[in-house]
Amino acid sequence: MTAATMQQQALAEAADMVSSVPTGLFIDGAWRAAADGQQFSVHDPATGDVVARLANATPSDAMDALDAADRAFPSWSRTPPRERAELLRRTFDLVMRDRERIARIITLEMGKPLRESHAEVSYGAEFLRWFGEEAVRISGRFGSSPEGTGDMIVSRHALGPALLITPWNFPLAMATRKIAPALAAGCTVVIKPAALTPLTTLYLVKLLEEAGLPAGVVNVIPTTNSGGATGPIIADSRLRKISFTGSTQVGRVLLEKASANILRSSMELGGNAPFLVFDDADLSRAVEGALVAKFRNIGQACTAANRFIVHASVAQEFSRRVAEKVAQFKLGSGFDPDVAIGPLIDEAAVAGVDELVQDALSRGATLVTGGKRRGGAGTFFEPTVLTDVARDSRLLREEIFGPVLPIVTFDTDDEAIAIANDTEYGLVGYAFTASIERGQRLINELQTGMMGWNVGVLSNAAAPFGGVKMSGLGREGGAEGIDEYLTTKYTLLPSVFRP
Ligand code: NAP
Repeated sequence: MTAATMQQQALAEAADMVSSVPTGLFIDGAWRAAADGQQFSVHDPATGDVVARLANATPSDAMDALDAADRAFPSWSRTPPRERAELLRRTFDLVMRDRERIARIITLEMGKPLRESHAEVSYGAEFLRWFGEEAVRISGRFGSSPEGTGDMIVSRHALGPALLITPWNFPLAMATRKIAPALAAGCTVVIKPAALTPLTTLYLVKLLEEAGLPAGVVNVIPTTNSGGATGPIIADSRLRKISFTGSTQVGRVLLEKASANILRSSMELGGNAPFLVFDDADLSRAVEGALVAKFRNIGQACTAANRFIVHASVAQEFSRRVAEKVAQFKLGSGFDPDVAIGPLIDEAAVAGVDELVQDALSRGATLVTGGKRRGGAGTFFEPTVLTDVARDSRLLREEIFGPVLPIVTFDTDDEAIAIANDTEYGLVGYAFTASIERGQRLINELQTGMMGWNVGVLSNAAAPFGGVKMSGLGREGGAEGIDEYLTTKYTLLPSVFRP
């Protein structure tokens, strides 16, 4: 079968699969239309075609969702941890059962190559399994006061109803990374997926329902009126938690709103990851790491390497090898098995990436490969490599969120670290060096929440994901992930051992 036929067949199958996705809002255990009956369209970014019409939640629907989450909270938070764990585990099994279908839905609404959607399904499902396992390990402490007069109990409790807001770039993983720890902790949730990619979340909620989700524990409100629908929820004192993944700009607005009720807030925001290649690096490994750190998800990841900071003595060889590979990347529909680079999410994304490339070129950068948008249907931008990028270029200061790899050079370690830290963001850094001492120095001195040492991708459900500086507050995943949905209570009672 030719690649074109396979692509046609995959597209037809994906369209068929969309018919299995619910099109309503899910509130209090029931699927329903929006209060005003309005709907909105979801598009395939590779073709621009409408692939689904969905209920468009109004502010009053959003309040119904909060009412339901609030009513369900007392019983869900008292549900034995083992039962909460088993619901998550059953959902994990259902996601794995339907992994092919879910991967196709992700590619259809978001555009990434199908094999990357498969990788997202594996990664996203892991949060359900991991937090199912964590649900039964929520523990506290017991001890005597130093004076010996009292017994001190430290216990952990579910915070209450939580609002979860997710972005479009990892439609499954961003939802499970929030829903799973919230449910494991005993919180109930209202989730608002990105308007561009709500289908995957709706399908996930359908699987949660199949796994036995009690009414009101998870409520989903797709909407094109994100601020209008979530504003009244955030202002309501029954909401006790907000968890947001998205841009720093929107995170700041939400934090301001959250401050009115002193809401516990987790913010997974933007990044501007440095990718450091030292003169002692294994260059083949660095090139391989660079390609995945930059081009995975078509460059649209908060963890995407944004600035390649390469020692002057190896820069030419590194650029040559990277550009040689990038020039061979095929651009096209994610359903074509030979495609490495799918479409960007929308027209605004293409225009934004184009602007950053033009700015760098106008400041003297050298274009090695790519550099322009592709004409015709869909929102495509060529995979691009630029060298001699001037330090004041916007490419180096802003999140690129597209398939563009800019290279700058350095001479000393101090200079490399100074360039890496010269950003308001601090999500992740990548470093390629054979030196243990240098690696240890970087762990201490890179101002980031995460570091990939000789690796280009590091996300894992078992690890704490999150940033410092303007990349956010809190951690998702790992043992830390469940803490975001728990509060700590200290109780003192007279010691029975008191003499
Ligand atoms: P975005 O524009 O900030 O949107 C994220 C989510 O917030 C969407 O669901 C969006 O809804 C919603 N939203 C927008 N304005 C809102 C408002 N005023 N009130 C309530 N909700 C609002 O970000 P994006 O373009 O979807 O995602 C890309 C960004 O996410 C990048 O900056 C990336 O680095 C970041 N990101 C961070 C992480 C991390 O873990 N640190 C992971 C993935 C992505 P609509 O869809 O209706 O606009």
